Amino acid sequence: MPQARQLDVTDWQHTCPECDYENGFHVSFRRTRGDKEGNDISVWLICPSCSARFDVGLRTRLVQVARA
Ligand SMILES: [Zn+2]
Repeated sequence: MPQARQLDVTDWQHTCPECDYENGFHVSFRRTRGDKEGNDISVWLICPSCSARFDVGLRTRLVQVARA
């Protein structure tokens, strides 16, 4: 199971603390299974340069959307 390092967001967070890449992050979504339906997710940042993973504490819940 992949792990993520805690990252405190201060001001504008666009630089990787591992490798100093300065142009922002990719994001990934991971189900946390915190709710009964299994729709709670955490959003992690991933450095596009060194692939380090960071958890800034961003949590949300997926909802069903109508398909076009
Ligand atoms: Zn990096």
